[in-house]
Amino acid sequence: MNIQIKCYFYENCPNLSSLIPRQPSEIRRFTIATKSSANLYKKICEKIRVAYGSLIEQNDEIKTYWIDEENDLVCFSTDEEANFAMEMQTAISSSKNMSSSPLFKIYVSIKRANEPSPSSEEPQIHPGVMCDGCNGSIIGTRNRCTVCPDFDLCAECKNKDVHKEHEFIVFNKPVQQICSHLSQNKKRRTCKL
Ligand SMILES: [Zn+2]
Ligand SMILES: [Zn+2]
Repeated sequence: MNIQIKCYFYENCPNLSSLIPRQPSEIRRFTIATKSSANLYKKICEKIRVAYGSLIEQNDEIKTYWIDEENDLVCFSTDEEANFAMEMQTAISSSKNMSSSPLFKIYVSIKRANEPSPSSEEPQIHPGVMCDGCNGSIIGTRNRCTVCPDFDLCAECKNKDVHKEHEFIVFNKPVQQICSHLSQNKKRRTCKL
């Protein structure tokens, strides 16, 4: 038999549970043949991709949910789950006499493949630290000379091979004090280039 699918699509919402019953981006209806439950989930996903066209990109991950008899949003991603969800939903809707033909409502969200990873952090400024190459403040990568008592370079000056005779340690985030005995030595010693 053919089963009717009603599909609620939510764009840019990787986590759906908080947003039902928010207004979906787009609602579509289509049917799916359920002669066998083999590859059922794959068929559903293909149908969804076809229905929404350019709204879903090739590499986007489709997340599908249905709402069970207790009004919980249930995620499904296998043939078995899809089959069970369909049976449950059609049973619920026919018991309520809501529709003569079975209707399976799917809630869809997508996870964009090109979302920036959460590990990429904003570069931070290193308070009170000036670059000894350009006399500017240091944002992001701070390169501190391991030999000179107070010698720091910004990433740009470090790349110019300023002060290349000494080894550097790299700080990507601001630190309070690197070494108390070093910071006590307030007198700047000039480093010969
Ligand atoms: Zn600099
Ligand atoms: Zn040095």
